[in-house]
Amino acid sequence: MRGYDFVIVGTGVGGTAVARELARHTDSLLMLECAREYRDLGGALGMLRYLDERRLERGVYAHRALMAGGTAVLSCANGPRCLEEELSGLGIDLGEDFAEVEREIGVTPTPASALSPGSLALIAAGRVLGVTFRPMPKMIDFVRCRACGLCMLGCRSGAKWTPLQWLDELVAQGVRVCLQTRVERVRHHGGRVIGVEVLGPDGAGFIPARHVILAAGALATPVILQRSGFPDAGTHLAVDPAAIVYGITEGLSTVGEPVMSLIADDMHKSRGFLLSPFSENLTAGRVVTLGLRSLRYPARRMLGLMVKIKDDCSGRVLPDGRATKRMTRGDRARMADGTGLAKQILRVAGAREPFLVGRVNGGHPCCTAGIGRIVDHDLQTRIRGLYVADASVFPESPGKPTIVTIAALAKRLGKYLVARMTDTGLTRERRRAAVCAA
Ligand SMILES: Cc1cc2nc3c(=O)[nH]c(=O)nc-3n(C[C@H](O)[C@H](O)[C@H](O)COP(=O)(O)OP(=O)(O)OC[C@H]3O[C@@H](n4cnc5c(N)ncnc54)[C@H](O)[C@@H]3O)c2cc1C
Ligand code: SF4
Repeated sequence: MRGYDFVIVGTGVGGTAVARELARHTDSLLMLECAREYRDLGGALGMLRYLDERRLERGVYAHRALMAGGTAVLSCANGPRCLEEELSGLGIDLGEDFAEVEREIGVTPTPASALSPGSLALIAAGRVLGVTFRPMPKMIDFVRCRACGLCMLGCRSGAKWTPLQWLDELVAQGVRVCLQTRVERVRHHGGRVIGVEVLGPDGAGFIPARHVILAAGALATPVILQRSGFPDAGTHLAVDPAAIVYGITEGLSTVGEPVMSLIADDMHKSRGFLLSPFSENLTAGRVVTLGLRSLRYPARRMLGLMVKIKDDCSGRVLPDGRATKRMTRGDRARMADGTGLAKQILRVAGAREPFLVGRVNGGHPCCTAGIGRIVDHDLQTRIRGLYVADASVFPESPGKPTIVTIAALAKRLGKYLVARMTDTGLTRERRRAAVCAA
């Protein structure tokens, strides 16, 4: 089997961001993705093919997508930074990487012209109560956006950025991507990576590699690590639990704008939650999150605010892939605090009882191979040549959207690896010869 300088596991935001840096300097790069590619996005039923939902406890779920492009294909297109201070406290200054990622993705705040009457009412109500709603930084080309509000199904108009765009660019540059190829474990010898064991369409195999970068997401990377001699991976799971609180109105809603067009996060540091307007426009989606009681009200009569909390790292991913996490007393207190404030704002904005509170969904699994525990400051594990570049490395739960920060961390890792390649003075050809001889 041919060997590679770099094998990247996973084609989500972490995997594609690190690949972009490496692909500029080496052609000995292979991306392995366990799932298929889906381009027929935008349908609710189609989502069942790739959405992986885990029940963590009664009424609390974690989500990820198993597909080329990863979970960010289903994102709400939110692009704020998170954990900037916390990472800086660990000596990881992402300033330049954040700026580059934001430019490359095209992150831009929601323009005022895109806001619905519901969001304008929430801004005004927030002002009365001392809560500032500001435009959410979005990964949306607003010229192409049709304001359908169905971003999580996948954008049919191509207005929303996803890692599929970066993956397409990588393939166009000649990077080899193997789909439906699951990495089972990393093999190492004498404290150094030697390759990965895979299960692909042709069965089991071994791919020699000098560097392996795990970017399989915080629910899968720790499984690979545990199977590869890291029994301490998989602990500290956090998911950023979120619930939507709806009040009933006479026709005021945020239907007609992208979901989460605003963000109120002044209280994030002191109280551990943020608020953002949300409308579940599909009846089926409302039934899943709110139950049959939601059928009594059309989306246009429901004004919603998402409460997203920063949760305790109290969960765990087991070697067989199962995940467990209970909401701690602190998690429940933050959720109750946020829900109470959301109801106050909705009431001032003109909504009335009954206030409906949806089930709790955690879309940001993270922290299962944290910096300082499983990886060091350079995202390297104790096995030389084995790195992690996904939300697993977060040192704590962000309680905020993750994509831009994962991309910035992965970009930083890519630059670090390129600098090391250059330091060794190996030319493209000599590197290739070294790999073939390995
Ligand atoms: C519905 C929803 C909406 C969201 N909205 C936003 C938002 O608006 N903004 C934001 O910042 N964040 C959002 N998030 C969170 C964000 O999408 C994720 O935190 C982020 O995409 C995770 O990226 P990752 O690279 O860590 O992992 P992933 O994106 O999960 O990528 C992992 C990749 O590895 C593959 N893989 C898994 N196991 C293996 C294996 N063994 N071998 C090979 N390949 C493997 C997977 O198929 C996948 O392609 C949302 C999440 C959800 C669920
Ligand atoms: S709201 Fe805009 S970005 Fe979101 S899915 Fe619809 S067209 Fe795409």
